[in-house]
Amino acid sequence: MERKTFPMKSQKRIALLAHDNTKTDLVQWAKDNKERLAHHELFATGSTGEALEDELGVEVRKLLSGPLGGDLQIGGKISEGDIDFLVFFLDPLTALSHNSDVQALLRMAVLWNIPVACDRASADFMITSPLMDEEYQRLLTEEIDTYGG
Ligand code: PGA
Repeated sequence: MERKTFPMKSQKRIALLAHDNTKTDLVQWAKDNKERLAHHELFATGSTGEALEDELGVEVRKLLSGPLGGDLQIGGKISEGDIDFLVFFLDPLTALSHNSDVQALLRMAVLWNIPVACDRASADFMITSPLMDEEYQRLLTEEIDTYGG
């Protein structure tokens, strides 16, 4: 039986998140890739979104701050098919109060088979992929096929 796919348009809906110690790196990455990101729709958790709007002057759809539920909102959007690309610069050296929310978000991203970059090198490889500006059919798991409605 053929597995179901989910269509990604050429204009991607990209969620951008960074923990406090990695926000500067994410903003710098977004500046370095401003032209490429301009083709896409940007979402972010609260503080990351503020930093991106201030530094880049681009429009970002801001959700709640991560520790206040923003990571879970992004995870919910992934499961509803409203986000199809995740760039989340993690801080590997700091314990976080909302670590379980971060894990939940990453789990949703993997479950729904969306591209995820958790560091600068991965984000560089992904943003320069020719697939960024093409349509793409994401393969879904058999469980989503069966129970996904
Ligand atoms: P923030 O959230 O952009 O509101 O800081 C990111 C996070 O820590 O998950």
